[in-house]
Amino acid sequence: MANLLLRHVYKVYAGVGKAKKNAKGESKKRSGDFVAVKDFNMEINDGEFIVFVGPSGCGKSTTLRMIAGLEEISGGELYIDDQLVNDVDAKDRDIAMVFQSYALYPHLTAYDNIAFGLKMRKIPTPKLDKQGEQIIAIDNKKIAEINKKLKKLRKQNESLAKDIEKCNSAAEPNESDRAYYTEKKALLEKRIESAERELEHYQNTPVPLYNYVHMSKQEIDEKVKWAADILGIEELLDSKPAEMSGGQRQRIALGRAMVRGPKVFLLDEPLSNLDAKLRTAMRAEIVKLHNQLKTTFIYVTHDQIEAMTMGTRIVVMKLGVIQQIDTPTNLFDYPENKFVAGFIGTPQMNFFEVDIKRESDNLNVTFKDGQSVRLALSELRTIQDEYLDGNSHSVYLGVRGENVKLDESGIKATLSIKEVLGNTTQLFLRLEEKGSDFIVSVPERNDLMPGDAVNIKFMEKFVHLFDKETELSIMSREYGNK
Ligand code: ATP
Repeated sequence: MANLLLRHVYKVYAGVGKAKKNAKGESKKRSGDFVAVKDFNMEINDGEFIVFVGPSGCGKSTTLRMIAGLEEISGGELYIDDQLVNDVDAKDRDIAMVFQSYALYPHLTAYDNIAFGLKMRKIPTPKLDKQGEQIIAIDNKKIAEINKKLKKLRKQNESLAKDIEKCNSAAEPNESDRAYYTEKKALLEKRIESAERELEHYQNTPVPLYNYVHMSKQEIDEKVKWAADILGIEELLDSKPAEMSGGQRQRIALGRAMVRGPKVFLLDEPLSNLDAKLRTAMRAEIVKLHNQLKTTFIYVTHDQIEAMTMGTRIVVMKLGVIQQIDTPTNLFDYPENKFVAGFIGTPQMNFFEVDIKRESDNLNVTFKDGQSVRLALSELRTIQDEYLDGNSHSVYLGVRGENVKLDESGIKATLSIKEVLGNTTQLFLRLEEKGSDFIVSVPERNDLMPGDAVNIKFMEKFVHLFDKETELSIMSREYGNK
């Protein structure tokens, strides 16, 4: 069990190849740099089920890999249980990772796949003196480890100092390069300071010593059987991966992670290779597993339904930047920007470019095709004052298909396509002439045909408004405008 803290975490992939120089000999190293994760800040509490979600390339896997220690953190700090772990090796972070590809050994049985990590691993057991008491002394092994780490950090620091020196001595110094190297050096110096403090502590403080020994066969067997029991895979233990279905293989991969008893489980799109039905079943199983183990889970997916059904909190990302961190229902009810509003929910939220203007107790909304509706301000969520000053403001109006109803007194639209889904009917509508397309989901069946005119009304309680420029929500979570 663990809590995590990510502070101003960045991932910058350096441009391909070594530093390029132009005719004047200036360093061009930064031109190809790519910021995959930008200023990621988050506190994760013990036992939470966090989901990172966002479109392909938004930086969710990179963030997960930085937490795992599989990817170096370019800037910022990562703490696990209050310990700064930027420089702690992946194997020492007490984290287990489950991948989309399962990563099982094909020549080993399920049992041996699950047991593999345990057989390799050495676990700390108290180092005892002749009286059977645990020895408390200066830990020379730990001191050597920290010294090794410090040597590596100081070497990186020297190389950065040379980069800065090069920038300074160039005929026309490149300011952005210099700022970049200087910032990187400042962060590195912080890490060196922290390692030096750690070294001083271990040099001066006797600590309990441990021997690192392999687990006994019996201990390993107990752990494998425990995981197999929870995952319901006892019958598979003698099978090899090739004889198993995708879902069964993913269970073995989960078992392998479980037996390590990690502080944190990291799962990177673990269900992507499964068919739709199995995905739904495994989704529920992973949630059940989390409830049983009560360990911190961090789960990466691009599928918003997976995120909504599994996460206690969800992190929505876009182009390396966090868009919103919230509970599933808050993301759905109170998206903080247009991107989140459009990403969460199926079918996607409808957006209209409109002009809004306060007229006494109503908000007058004018659509691009000239039609307008009056929404009662008392029924809408509170709108920021500056948009209620009596002038006209261009905004996006967002509304979900299920929050629109057919109503004779509403605005006029034309039906393009009708899809009867059984429990609901989806109407693909278009506002007249140059208006936009949108989807309305109604519970009732009807005789409407493509080309028919329909009148619709928005349910005020569920109307969202976003600034046209910033695309940020201009509404609070409360109701009742003054
Ligand atoms: P996906 O769901 O497609 O895996 P993602 O949100 O997990 O997407 P990441 O894998 O974290 O995205 O990648 C974020 C960005 O960083 C992408 O634009 C990717 O091309 C880039 N990237 C990832 N690894 C590297 C690398 N080793 N070198 C350069 N760029 C990289």
